[in-house]
Amino acid sequence: GVMPEASKTDVVIVGAGPAGLMLATWLAHTGIHARLLDKRQTKIFTGQADGLQCRTQEIFESFGFADRVAKEAYKMEEFSMWNPSPSGVLRRDERFPDTPVGISRFHESVLHQGRIERFFLDNIGKYAEMTGAGVSVERGVLPLSIEIDEETAEDPDAYPVTMVLRHLTEEEATPEQSKSGSGVEDGLFRSNLAPDDTADLVRRTSGKEGREEVVRAKYVVGCDGAHSWVRSQLGFRLEGEPTDYIWGVLDIVPITNFPDIRNRCSVHSEASGSLMVIPRENSLVRLYVQLNEVQPDAETGRADRTSITPEKILKAAQKTLAPYTLEYKHCHWWTAYQIGQRVGTQFSKLERVFLAGDAVHTHSPKAGQGMNVSMQDSYNLGWKIAHCVQKKAPRSILKTYQSERRRIAQDLIAFDHKFSRLFSGRPAKDAADEAGVDLKEFKRVFLQGAMFASGLSVDYGRSMLVFKEGSAKEQGDGTDVVGNVKVVASKQELAKNCPVGMRFPTFQVLNQSGGRPWQFQQWLKSDGRYRVVLFAGNVKDTIQQKRVRTWCEEAEKEGSWLKRHTPKDKAINSIIEILTIHSSARKETELLDDFPALLHPLRENDMGWDYEKVFVDDVSYHHGDGRAYEGYGVDKARGCVVAVRPDGYTGFIGELEDVDGLDSYFAACLLDV
Ligand code: FAD
Repeated sequence: GVMPEASKTDVVIVGAGPAGLMLATWLAHTGIHARLLDKRQTKIFTGQADGLQCRTQEIFESFGFADRVAKEAYKMEEFSMWNPSPSGVLRRDERFPDTPVGISRFHESVLHQGRIERFFLDNIGKYAEMTGAGVSVERGVLPLSIEIDEETAEDPDAYPVTMVLRHLTEEEATPEQSKSGSGVEDGLFRSNLAPDDTADLVRRTSGKEGREEVVRAKYVVGCDGAHSWVRSQLGFRLEGEPTDYIWGVLDIVPITNFPDIRNRCSVHSEASGSLMVIPRENSLVRLYVQLNEVQPDAETGRADRTSITPEKILKAAQKTLAPYTLEYKHCHWWTAYQIGQRVGTQFSKLERVFLAGDAVHTHSPKAGQGMNVSMQDSYNLGWKIAHCVQKKAPRSILKTYQSERRRIAQDLIAFDHKFSRLFSGRPAKDAADEAGVDLKEFKRVFLQGAMFASGLSVDYGRSMLVFKEGSAKEQGDGTDVVGNVKVVASKQELAKNCPVGMRFPTFQVLNQSGGRPWQFQQWLKSDGRYRVVLFAGNVKDTIQQKRVRTWCEEAEKEGSWLKRHTPKDKAINSIIEILTIHSSARKETELLDDFPALLHPLRENDMGWDYEKVFVDDVSYHHGDGRAYEGYGVDKARGCVVAVRPDGYTGFIGELEDVDGLDSYFAACLLDV
């Protein structure tokens, strides 16, 4: 038949899993027009990934739904290691905190992927309405082809990507669910539905079933999972190997005399394999169980998963846990898989079509990283695409997606490789037993890995968005070039504990006007704005007061780092928000007298001063002393200036006088208006 005329949209996201939903969330918060397509008819209701790391929860908070996780998730406090004693009897070797102490306000929590998708969908709905973004989630839609017009790829006004989409009929869009004979459905077990998911079961017809459609987009992002269609259309590959380890996963309400069933545990038996215990919400426990009896085919390297049943997984778990007993009456979900450890060679084509999440990296789930790293990929990408669509930023910032995220994926695979080997191996009998796993090494790798697994050790390299020391072409005058951008190195020593390239840390500060304590991070919302954190120092000192006033005057000059990027008809804080933390005694300081108006600007529509911009490092009435300057490693008298990216990563640090540095930082990240 004749194709209908192409419609246009800014962004098409293929795949509404965690990575696609995170991307759509950014676009809803920043007001971009996007279509989120999934070939499946419904979201996931249960099963699959369940671990939420610290950084992921910080990101959820920045979008406004970390509270829902706090209410529903199980918080894992303790990790226990169970190992064979010298005589081969299973015993508890050690216990320690599951999350390294002091790294974040959030700790590792577990909740199944279906609930997390629910929170995303609700948040997208709310913000798309507020910002007028027009982000639609469309199910039962399968892309048939994708083409990029290379000629217009660099034209910011063009829609160079053309896709043909097919709206599936109900039968086509409903995946095969029931695993043979087990009686428990995989992924869509409907009696386990949360009440607020039931609306999703009512089939909404689009009226387009069975039809094809052509859509033209500025950007397309493939978040379509491990077997990514987008990736194969681009001709990109994943590099790496399948491993020989076959694992079974059981989500059950256990009946057991094993004492640590409400802890996260690693269990290495002497000769009957290993398992991991993940305590969960609603009395559930997830067991990751090594299945030694199912071996990959010698020729293909693939295992036959169809022979695996929940009963077989239970039997293997019982052997590992002996002499403790384990039974269940309720199985919520189960699956089995063979681990492949692979990373994509390319994360984008022409910075017009991107890949994120499992589409560019696959690995074992036991470190709880799949969903987290996938969401963090698209968290890195979403605001960059939004800025380019809005023509706030040059398209060259899109190159930093691959340079920042590919290294994370490689680190992830390296970590997973080490961790899986140590986890799946048989414990060594003694120091001479080289084929066995040294359990002390397992502990060491686990503890090192905990920091990596939290997501907080991410340290993005030098780029046009990260002004730090690093290898790039020196120009002789101390500055150098990344792409066409002049990079002025940050003065890291001014904020010792805010490494440039890492997420800006958080400490308690008080609102200057009302005295209310806040974690400063709560003000770093994911709304697409850059932030300049002005550590104003001791503003009651005359010389320091002068420095702060001069800094504000510079910012207010025509053509300044602030004015150049802010449209005249928009609020002064609309592109770059200035937040102040000072260190004078709160009770001796007055907002209106001691701080220039720029730091607490008038709100739009004559709504009075903005009282939520100036904070102080001082003792609170009820919640102690945040000691923020000490925490950030900033001098209490002189302060400093820190630029923070829209995703919360530190981009630049300078003195109050380093206006040129700030100027070149924003000249790199943002276009002039
Ligand atoms: P996915 O969650 O895979 O989302 C991809 C989405 O794209 C899906 O909704 C899919 O329907 C859609 N899609 C795919 N192809 C197309 C197409 N051509 N057109 C339109 N839409 C398409 N992780 C753990 O940490 N622990 C576990 O126990 C665990 N178990 C898992 C069990 C299973 C059966 C699966 C599939 C995954 C499991 N994972 C587990 C992995 C975890 O779910 C992923 O790491 C995480 O979901 C990655 O998110 P993503 O958004 O990148 O991809």
